[in-house]
Amino acid sequence: MQKPSTQLKIGILGGGQLGRMLLQAAANYPVETYILENDEQCPSAHLCHHFTKGDIKDFESVYNFGKELNAITIEIENVNVEALEKLEAEGVKVYPKPSVLKTIKNKILQKEYYQLHQIPSPEFIVTNNLSELNQQESFLPAVHKVGQGGYDGKGVQLIKTKEDLLKGFDAPAVLEKMVPIHKEIAQMVAINEKGDTALYPPVEMKFDPYLNLLDYQICPAEMDQKTLWKVEAIALSVVRNFKSPGIFAVELFIDKDGNVLVNETAPRVHNSGHHTIEAHYSSQFDMLWRIMLNYPLGNTDAILPSIMVNLIGADGFSGEAKYEGLEEVLKIENAFAHIYGKKQTKPGRKMGHVTILSKEKQELIHQSNKVKNTLFVKS
Ligand code: ADP
Repeated sequence: MQKPSTQLKIGILGGGQLGRMLLQAAANYPVETYILENDEQCPSAHLCHHFTKGDIKDFESVYNFGKELNAITIEIENVNVEALEKLEAEGVKVYPKPSVLKTIKNKILQKEYYQLHQIPSPEFIVTNNLSELNQQESFLPAVHKVGQGGYDGKGVQLIKTKEDLLKGFDAPAVLEKMVPIHKEIAQMVAINEKGDTALYPPVEMKFDPYLNLLDYQICPAEMDQKTLWKVEAIALSVVRNFKSPGIFAVELFIDKDGNVLVNETAPRVHNSGHHTIEAHYSSQFDMLWRIMLNYPLGNTDAILPSIMVNLIGADGFSGEAKYEGLEEVLKIENAFAHIYGKKQTKPGRKMGHVTILSKEKQELIHQSNKVKNTLFVKS
């Protein structure tokens, strides 16, 4: 007879919306959940079994939080990796491995990783300060990306002309050739302890050119079979070479000539997988628990095509969040709202998302526009 499994203790560094959705999925499994987060009012606080107030960037806080746990995962890369290395050395499982976090946290190391493993990614050079950047006029047009600390497009600067060079970062950074982008896509890959992998259908991401924030995301991304094979092979190569179990979102460009290039990788559950909650048999959150609890990988197939719209704090409103138009949006057939429970809104803050399912792509786009024109977070 099989031994009944003992309940594992698993911690998450960070208590934002990704932690919250992980906890929602955890409720289905025999697992005791722990959150480390500074903000006691965070979206994850009331959904975990144990909440610890503390700084995910601080060695002592992370180490003390993790040392009694069986495993630990992250919802953001900006955590104390040294503490995770010590925990790993003492037998705590870390998803993804700290070595992966080290590579990914720094865009310079991340680009060198792609180069080392012959993974196609835009051509780049490293600049250590503004004066080094100023000597790179012949490399333009390009995109300057700060090595450490960038987030949601904030550490990224387009450098098209000589005049733009002044807008660059006076810190170690990557200067990347500007790609003539046809499509931006994300490929989620799950990989377990044994090295078995499962791929979700890629999604296409449409960005708001003004805010540099995601406008909507549609699944599956339209592409020919040959391009799909390239995307899958490249994303698998990114993930396999890390030699770490976990879930990964590989963001890629398809350029105007059909070349597939890796932009960046997130070694965790990701915004580009939100739609998998309703639109796929096993969501990205369900999948990560399966991996951490050593269960079989889930089914990544789509139940129906889907579109996902982020719900962003409206311009001109800061303060206690109020939701306008939610009832109207929920009248849409197969529309699902996720309100993250953040008490305070401010312009541009991610406050929730809406996923819509339909067989018809036109219908998905039409309904996502309706959501954008109906649902607002104000104060
Ligand atoms: P972040 O990590 O802050 O999200 P990204 O590296 O994803 O930053 O860059 C943000 C956006 O900038 C991308 O989604 C893409 O639209 C644009 N971008 C980034 N790199 C390039 C590039 N080499 N060529 C053209 N556009 C780029």
